[in-house]
Amino acid sequence: MEQTRTAVVTGASSGIGAATARHLAREGFHVFCAARRSDRIEALAAEIGGTPVTCDVTDPDSVAALADVVGDRLDVLVNNAGGAFGSAPVAQADADEWRRMYEVNVLGLMEVTKALLPALLASGAGAILNVGSTAGRIAYEGGAGYTAAKHGTQVVTETLRLELWDQPVRVMEVVPGMVRTEEFSLVRFGGDQAKADAVYAGVAEPLTADDVADAITWMVTRPSYVNIDELVIRPRAQAAHHKVHRQG
Ligand code: NDP
Repeated sequence: MEQTRTAVVTGASSGIGAATARHLAREGFHVFCAARRSDRIEALAAEIGGTPVTCDVTDPDSVAALADVVGDRLDVLVNNAGGAFGSAPVAQADADEWRRMYEVNVLGLMEVTKALLPALLASGAGAILNVGSTAGRIAYEGGAGYTAAKHGTQVVTETLRLELWDQPVRVMEVVPGMVRTEEFSLVRFGGDQAKADAVYAGVAEPLTADDVADAITWMVTRPSYVNIDELVIRPRAQAAHHKVHRQG
């Protein structure tokens, strides 16, 4: 009998992570849904027949507990937990916000990867999928704390691929542009709904969490010798970070 494939999705309590957990479950994966908000991941896991794991990716003890629940074997890790906090120019930057962005987008990804790598290798065909951002490819005014962190995500991804070149694990990065998720911009602007809405103002069709989840699911379900190094995905209305077609 074929073994059920397993996946860990961090940041599964909302947005891209929750959508990815649903997509992977539909593909037949047993999904470990990890995030800090237990109520949300419990509801999601119940819906998709997965396992909720309350986990703060920036806390090594919490990550060790996640690895214990996952056990000896894992097929797919989606390092999705992340986010942006604030949008101040460098001259007015808040060091705490920068630190938090580095912690969740880079150190958290490192902690989870380290803890789950043995299980991914044990599967004989593991896949690590890091959720980067087009913010990790360019610079924009007011974005330095986040862009620096997401450039970090990219560089860690590339380094890991080089280091694991002779091991049975793929290392990939999905690189989304503008995605309209419920919380991303709200979190960034400290709960200011008007500022969050302005990000997407007049854009007829920003990407949805489902669009990115679909791309991630495609990447991790290619044959195990096919490594999609990076996949950049943007809405048609966003030809480049600063060139967004807005109506009205
Ligand atoms: P959301 O704000 O909806 O989701 C972020 C998720 O990360 C939440 O589930 C949150 O859960 C989790 N999270 C945050 N901190 C931690 C932590 N310390 N430990 C565990 N989980 C944590 O945003 P999106 O779904 O839009 O973003 C998901 C990813 O995609 C992020 O990495 C983001 O940087 C990236 N991205 C988003 C884009 C966009 O335009 N929306 C564009 C490009 C990339 P909880 O609070 O319950 O812990």
